[in-house]
Amino acid sequence: MNIVILGAPASGKGTQAQLLSEKLKLFHFQTGELSRDLAEKDPRIKKIVDSGKLIPEEEMTMYALDYLKENKSDLKNILFEGFPRFISQYGALEMFLKTKGDDIDAVIALDITEKEAIRRLSARRICENCGEVYNLITSPPPEAGKCGKCGGKLMQRADDKPESIKARFAYYKDNTKKLIDYLDKKGKLLRVDGERPIEVIFEDILERLKKIEND
Ligand SMILES: [Zn+2]
Repeated sequence: MNIVILGAPASGKGTQAQLLSEKLKLFHFQTGELSRDLAEKDPRIKKIVDSGKLIPEEEMTMYALDYLKENKSDLKNILFEGFPRFISQYGALEMFLKTKGDDIDAVIALDITEKEAIRRLSARRICENCGEVYNLITSPPPEAGKCGKCGGKLMQRADDKPESIKARFAYYKDNTKKLIDYLDKKGKLLRVDGERPIEVIFEDILERLKKIEND
């Protein structure tokens, strides 16, 4: 089964992707890591990634498909996170999978409101010493303001401040949100309420995937 997971910043898609790929033994394809690898080799890409922007959509499609050819050439049982993000990328991936007689079997969209995204992202803290990430709401440090791993001081990243969060959300509306609306109209989407506890969301997704598999 090939699954795509979509959602706004702080919708919890990374967490759910992790859980799903473990439980269903899926190959977890995520573009965060791929982008960082590409950035290391190419200063132009590094500039894009560092500014919090996305690699241009068609260029990213090429990198993503090349990555799959090299690392998961049977194109089966993949969980896609971070790609596709644009309608064009979705179409390209679908076509690519079809060359191997495969398809995108399910698309999950985690719904959260902008208000909730801001609340979650504003609660994020990072250890200035070791980089461990905490969330004052969902995963607080054992001692306030102090890293549980190394004792380092916790700080807020510049792009987790309210103004940057608003910009990130606006950016999301301009790309992934359009893909979500497009797939919703096609009836291809599993819309999942992302404002519930992690385990509840996870069980909900599993249940609905089971239904698709049995159809
Ligand atoms: Zn630390």
